[in-house]
Amino acid sequence: KLQGKTALVTGSTSGIGLAVARAFAFEGASLMINGFGDAAEIEAIRQELETSSGSQVLYDNADLGDAGAIEAMVKRCAHELRSPDILVNNAGIQFVSPVESFPVDKWEAILRINLSGVFHTTRLCIPAMRERGWGRIINTASAHSLIASPNKSAYVAAKHGVAGFTKTVALEAARDGVTVNCISPGYVWTPLVENQIPDTMRARNLTREQVMNDVLLAAQPTKRFVSVDEVASLALYLTSDGAASITGANLSMDGGWTAA
Ligand code: NAD
Repeated sequence: KLQGKTALVTGSTSGIGLAVARAFAFEGASLMINGFGDAAEIEAIRQELETSSGSQVLYDNADLGDAGAIEAMVKRCAHELRSPDILVNNAGIQFVSPVESFPVDKWEAILRINLSGVFHTTRLCIPAMRERGWGRIINTASAHSLIASPNKSAYVAAKHGVAGFTKTVALEAARDGVTVNCISPGYVWTPLVENQIPDTMRARNLTREQVMNDVLLAAQPTKRFVSVDEVASLALYLTSDGAASITGANLSMDGGWTAA
């Protein structure tokens, strides 16, 4: 269904972004993937996606905290593939600390990558989408774009910013066939989350079950992690013609977290 379309997915070398890239490739999209990691592993991912898509897949290592690198990546995508029809702003980082001791450089990095990066890719990709009269911008926000948790000031501020930015651009592009939405997952089962479990078990003297249910899933009423494939299936749906009237929305996928 995405044959002939090109998608740029930031932060797609692991976790949610990789699942989104896989879902798009399965539908025949040509892709530019991005993110950090082991060069050989990334090349294996690139080849896997190219095989499953049957279209060209390129990798760009742009740091989403660097406006110049983002500009070069978007230009490269336009020249070597096609200006993106679909943009998924997914790259993101986290740091946890009380506000009074929050390291200033961490605050700035989180705002740069999680918020300003979304601004830069969007401003660079949207002209071609509006010109064609078709485009999809999907931002991975978070339940933390709607509610807060202590010690996550930079992340919560950036994700609330993403939600507001999404609404603004949705209004600007509303008559041009371009939809702009965010997906707001609760706790998603990624290696990042899985790797925290043994440390928390040791630190708090808890069983694996207790860490999962009483610590990680304490706020998630389903008591089940969201899977990366669930997020990817919502992203894929947002690219469909059936989703043409969904714009400016912040779609929660959080097992009821923000309903409580
Ligand atoms: P992840 O760490 O598995 O993936 C993050 C991706 O972003 C990786 O590909 C990484 O290389 C890339 N990345 C990090 N910094 C980058 C930079 N400066 N420039 C370019 N790429 C960079 O994490 P994930 O859980 O898949 O997170 C993806 C998005 O989902 C993030 O925006 C995150 O805030 C959001 N999210 C995650 C959860 C969760 O529970 N995992 C919940 C809600 C929202």
